[in-house]
Amino acid sequence: MSVELANRVAIVTGASGGIGQAIAREFALAGAAVVLGYGQRALPAETLAQELVGSGHQALACQADVSTASGAAALVKAAVDAFGHLDILVNNAGITRDGLFLRMKEKDWDDVLSTNLKSVYLCVQAASRQLLRSSCGRVINISSVASLMGNLGQANYVAAKAGMNGLTKTLAREFSGRSVTVNAVAPGFVETDMTASLGEMKERILAQIPLGRLGQPQDVAGLCVFLAGDAGSYITGQVIQVDGGLVM
Ligand code: NAP
Repeated sequence: MSVELANRVAIVTGASGGIGQAIAREFALAGAAVVLGYGQRALPAETLAQELVGSGHQALACQADVSTASGAAALVKAAVDAFGHLDILVNNAGITRDGLFLRMKEKDWDDVLSTNLKSVYLCVQAASRQLLRSSCGRVINISSVASLMGNLGQANYVAAKAGMNGLTKTLAREFSGRSVTVNAVAPGFVETDMTASLGEMKERILAQIPLGRLGQPQDVAGLCVFLAGDAGSYITGQVIQVDGGLVM
């Protein structure tokens, strides 16, 4: 059994979705105890948690709306109650509410900003005491390459993810005195529910990706394990792309 993340406790938000499931699984396989946060879909998170526990790992699923302070606090409490402490926070929960800017509804702007950006503020606030106490504290924010290049129809999403990049760099500076690293991982197009409706755009997108394929959740999870482990301890304040060369 891998011990890269042995004795570490991690929260992964959005662990009922494609990328969050892969991160939670890889963290558990690397030896971490993992809290799988989910919003509305209990089944994927509960099923994965049970599967991991059944194969000798430490995991539990926890429902929590991360766009609320009470949801963020509940996740941290679940981690500390079950596993005693918290070392790693992965802010992965996210939504899209796409539409061209001139027609974008205020509610779609607010929902995306609060789920994708304010949630990071709330979760880091809730987790900060535990993370700063840890000897190997890590915050990993799942951003997007859209934050670097903009994207038609995603003004709300791009604003949230670009805000996340800036927040990442500031937190990296503020937490550096306690050796807590804070990084953002920026995926390109990854095959999950979020990209399931690409339809005929898929061929056009593939033509722009030098490596010639969409990403898999596993591609993102591998970098997260690296950043969370000792090998990543001298990397902080970075926005690291996992995009098959889409943006370079
Ligand atoms: P996904 O399959 O749609 O999963 C999204 C996850 O976010 C789900 O677990 C969902 O939980 C959770 N979530 C949404 N709102 C929430 C809330 N208020 N409270 C708690 N959890 C909430 O999407 P994905 O592709 O895995 O995306 C994961 C992250 O990667 C997102 O931040 C996304 O922006 C980013 N990303 C994805 C891609 C891509 O191509 N897929 C590219 C770049 C970046 P429930 O379903 O249980 O509500």
